[in-house]
Amino acid sequence: MIDIIGGGILGLTMAYELLKGGTPVRVWERSTSLGGLMGRTTLDELGGVSCDRYYHAILSSDRTIMGLLEELGLRSRVGMVATKMGFYHAAQTYPMTTPLEFLRFPPLSMLDRIRLAYTILACRGIKDWRALEQLPVTAWLEGLSGKTATRNIWTPLLRAKFDGDFSQVPATYIWSRLVRTTDTRTKGGSQEMMCYLPNGYQELVDALAAAICARGGTITLGATVDQVRIADRQVVGLSVDGQEIASTRVVLTTQTPIARRLLPPAAVDVDAQWGQLDGYLGIVCMLVVLRHSLTPYYTLNITDERIPFTGIIETTNLIDPSHVGGFHLIYLPKYVAPNSPYAQMDDAQLKEKFLGYLRQMFPKLHEGTIAAVRIGRERYVEPLHPVGATDLIPTLRSAISGLYLANTSQIYPQLTNGESVCSFARQVAIELR
Ligand SMILES: Cc1cc2nc3c(=O)[nH]c(=O)nc-3n(C[C@H](O)[C@H](O)[C@H](O)COP(=O)(O)OP(=O)(O)OC[C@H]3O[C@@H](n4cnc5c(N)ncnc54)[C@H](O)[C@@H]3O)c2cc1C
Repeated sequence: MIDIIGGGILGLTMAYELLKGGTPVRVWERSTSLGGLMGRTTLDELGGVSCDRYYHAILSSDRTIMGLLEELGLRSRVGMVATKMGFYHAAQTYPMTTPLEFLRFPPLSMLDRIRLAYTILACRGIKDWRALEQLPVTAWLEGLSGKTATRNIWTPLLRAKFDGDFSQVPATYIWSRLVRTTDTRTKGGSQEMMCYLPNGYQELVDALAAAICARGGTITLGATVDQVRIADRQVVGLSVDGQEIASTRVVLTTQTPIARRLLPPAAVDVDAQWGQLDGYLGIVCMLVVLRHSLTPYYTLNITDERIPFTGIIETTNLIDPSHVGGFHLIYLPKYVAPNSPYAQMDDAQLKEKFLGYLRQMFPKLHEGTIAAVRIGRERYVEPLHPVGATDLIPTLRSAISGLYLANTSQIYPQLTNGESVCSFARQVAIELR
């Protein structure tokens, strides 16, 4: 029997894969619903319309997710759309979907464009990422793309993702990103194909939960694990909301700082090991529900540093608005370091700031077009991997017998996304069976 702490996509996929291999599981989830970061929110003020708390796309190249959907009978529910991407630069919007549009981006000279195209081709040719892990991303990009393209294309993307401080980010980050996104392109590269489930990842989450229960696994909601119990260097149980549960094998799927808080003093050495690499960026993300579409893009990247949010993700350019009550959804994310002023602002301040800038970008956006606003905040979203830190990544097995850690910080050099999370969960299950 394995006890899995956390009913997010990672914990549920792992539970399902363990059961497939014949290992019984129990899943403990502190929230009253499953899905974690991939969960849903209900807009009571709009008659109970339900939508994703955050934006989550599936890419056409996501083989593990597609395989899971097939196994769980959801494959026919998957829609596929050729989505568009844009850049908001110097108060203007530029389409950047096709390679041609990319190469026409005004701030770039012909030489910059050639070097940019070369960067993409060069990345696809790199199979061994280990050397990239030692290189700071900016120096590596300047070598490949040149200074102007780095300043106008790569720097804004990096600034957005790492809340301004990317001096310690290794080259693997952009390499992984380019390999993943160019995989989703049609032959010839002219279109980006993205996929969706009409009710978001929640459909996968619900199907996994049903399959877990059908195979004899248990899922307990509203169950906060307070501590893992250890005696003689062996897991002996769990404290769940103060109640003692006997157990000999526990997998923590929560983010590392949360997992560390569940360790008793007897695991001080494990705590120190996990603490060697446990930095995460958080996010504040405003969902604005509109009565009309705002842009033709799924993603509009914002390169203007004055605008606090780093992109506009209009998910209803992928998921048909009819699946969310006929409304149009835009998400305005800002990744935040713990000391960011945006992490400290209250909802009213954030709303005023973000909507003020949105109106500045789109002066024709009227108050009456905005049907609802929701602010999401998460302290631990993006695990940070500084240059040359691969050896510090916590391992699945710890020095305590029966105690395991399996979370997104161990997914490297791939980026953290639904595909990499599910494929990692499957790998861990195979190792633990
Ligand atoms: C704004 C945003 C956009 C994103 N966009 C994409 C995207 O487009 N595509 C994509 O694939 N991915 C995307 N991601 C990433 C994706 O959401 C995560 O990689 C994934 O959801 C992580 O799943 P997880 O199970 O590891 O963690 P989580 O979802 O965080 O699950 C951990 C679970 O553990 C539970 N838990 C915590 N402490 C305890 C405790 N003490 N006891 C019991 N339970 C506990 C939590 O309640 C939670 O349910 C995005 C994330 C965000 C925030």
